[in-house]
Parts: sequence; C-alpha cells; structure tokens
Amino acid sequence: MSLSGPRILVVEDERAISEPLAKLLAREGFEATVAGTVADALAEFAAHPPELILLDLNLPDGDGRDVAREIRHSSGVPIIMLTARGTETDRIVGLEIGADDYVVKPFSSAEVIARIRAVLRRSEAPSADQGEPVGETVVVGEMRIDPATHRAFLSDNELDLSLKEFDLLYELARNAGNVVSRDELMTRVWDENWFGSTKTLDVHIGWLRRKLADDANKPYWIETVRGVGFRFAGGDGSADS
Ligand code: CA
Repeated sequence: MSLSGPRILVVEDERAISEPLAKLLAREGFEATVAGTVADALAEFAAHPPELILLDLNLPDGDGRDVAREIRHSSGVPIIMLTARGTETDRIVGLEIGADDYVVKPFSSAEVIARIRAVLRRSEAPSADQGEPVGETVVVGEMRIDPATHRAFLSDNELDLSLKEFDLLYELARNAGNVVSRDELMTRVWDENWFGSTKTLDVHIGWLRRKLADDANKPYWIETVRGVGFRFAGGDGSADS
C-alpha cells in the first residue's frame, strides 16, 4: 500500500473533530495533516501544499475565510468547508471564498469521504472543457510555428502575426501538402457559431500572404484550391507536391 495518497490539510481547532477525522483519512489512504489555527494552516499550506483542504470557519485566531482568501491568491486547491449548519449564509460564504463543497457538522465518515473523493475527481479530471491540448511545433521548410508560445518564424525571423493570422497559418501548416477546406478553416479559426461572410477568410489569407511575401498568382506558401480551400505548399512552391 502506498504511503503517500493525496495530501489533505484539515483546518479545525476542535480536537474532538480533527482527531477522528485525521484517523479516518489515514485509514482511507490519505495523508492527513491537522492545523488548529489560521497561522498554522497558512504555514502548513506553504510548507506542504495539499491536494485538498477541509476548512472550519471559526478558528481561535481568526476566520477560516481569511485562510481561504489567502490561499486563493496563489492556488486553486479544492476547499471543502466544514460548517456548523447548512444554512444559506454558509453556502453564500462558501461561494464567496471559492469553496468547492461543504459538509455540515456533525458529518458521517461515509459522507465526508464521499465528498472528498468527488471533489478530488473533479479537480483531477482532464480538462475536457478547456478544448484541445496545445499542439506541437510545426516545422515546414524554413517555417517554424509554435502553438504553445503563439510565435512563428521564417528563416529565424519572427513573423508579426495577428491572432487569427497565426491560427490560420498553424492550421494550414500542420496539414502541409493537403487541402484544408474553407469550412474547416472557418470552424477552426473562427468558431462553429460564426455566421459571418467567408470574405473574412479571404481577407485574412490576403494579409497572411503579404506577411509571408507570398504571391497569390505564383504562391510559394499558400496556394488557393479553387472552390475548395487552401493548401500549404510546404515552401517549395509546387502545387503538385
Ligand atoms: Ca471551530
């Protein structure tokens, strides 16, 4: 059995609660530390950043809300509030301090463990709603395009591109040699709900070509495939490659 499960910081001054809670967490495979004051909680948080915090609001040297506010300056660590009553006020306080959930004292072992696991699952889940992961650097001939930093270089000279120009260049270059349809470009660079004229696309392609010193009639980089879309010619200027 692993000795280092997720680290949980219990901020609670009542030993009658914190001691059995710490034992329970250990039994369930967590690594639990207890802090009984605001000062201890902040020191412990700084010394051993936890994966989750169980936070009581009424502490001898201050308010649990101050702990949460301080921590939220630097961290999105999940916080579960330990509240005395499940009142509306407590829920509002919870939202205000950015708590992820709360449990009402006295809570059962099963309840608190279930809440902890649910919150940890949510925080560990791959960010499905943050869109695709950032792609890898694309190198085509003398062109180097890095989506992570949003920078593009041509023969080591950085191109001065707008956001849309960059996105267009990246979409075309990562499909170098293949036609990317107008629809695909519109969807990927603008968005699926974009109902504007595709004239916008042509305008941006025009700007991009100018920055690449490309000639629409004799393209070196971006070739128009009439009625379909555009093809990144891979820098050799050959439409047939
Ligand atoms: Ca208390």
